[in-house]
Amino acid sequence: MNAPAPPNFDSAELAKFTDVAHDWWNTNSRSFGALHTINPLRLDWIDSMASLRGKRILDVGCGGGILADSMAHLANKDAIGASVLGIDLGRESLQIAQLHALEAGTPSVSYREISAEALAEESPASFDIVTCMEMLEHVPDPAAIVRACADLVKPNGWVFFSTINRNLQSFTQAIVGAEYVLGLIPRGTHEYAKFIQPAELMRWARSSGLAPQATRGLGYSPITQRYSLNDNTSVNYMIAMQKI
Ligand code: SAH
Repeated sequence: MNAPAPPNFDSAELAKFTDVAHDWWNTNSRSFGALHTINPLRLDWIDSMASLRGKRILDVGCGGGILADSMAHLANKDAIGASVLGIDLGRESLQIAQLHALEAGTPSVSYREISAEALAEESPASFDIVTCMEMLEHVPDPAAIVRACADLVKPNGWVFFSTINRNLQSFTQAIVGAEYVLGLIPRGTHEYAKFIQPAELMRWARSSGLAPQATRGLGYSPITQRYSLNDNTSVNYMIAMQKI
């Protein structure tokens, strides 16, 4: 018999987020301020690639629900039948997400503590849209998460990933710049070796039956202190894929 696969999570990585879970909805916090700032940009892009209206949506590694919550609002706008499920393995983060949904009265959003792989076993081909943002660079085996996302989405459905490229520029900007010089995010948030090149992500995707359709870079200007979408995927980037 084969030995069981080791669990595909890293407790130290989960703790980076659960330790500061109380700050998930603090838009000015160093831990999560940047995610709040980029959220409208990624939400618009996702919705422009695959309309969220009325869709059954899964957010993998949802944390405190920044993206899941905003997707639920958009998915329910002038539509019926929409639902958003956020999953994560950080219990405190999920509790904060749930609490925020209650306080904000967010429609048809729910949260569960379950891995992507376990949910894929339980409910394969169940979602129109799957998002997995800023999470792959925190797990031991990101290819297995990509495979699970591919299993979870319906045929022709869409999967969106965002992560950080691995090269000298991303080291300089995403670690030295963002963590040490500008202090945009806490020191120790990211580990260079876990960054993922777009070609690697696309290879894992294709071998799981996902066809990459579009890529966007996310740039930060220290001068204007603004984020914007562009064609430069050398640091932060997103990829839209479709299940074939
Ligand atoms: N996707 C959210 C949060 C990103 S922070 C957003 O973009 O706004 C990274 C999240 O990934 C954290 O909430 C962390 O708990 C989660 N995470 C890390 N490893 C995970 C794993 N193996 N399974 C599920 N979630 C994981």
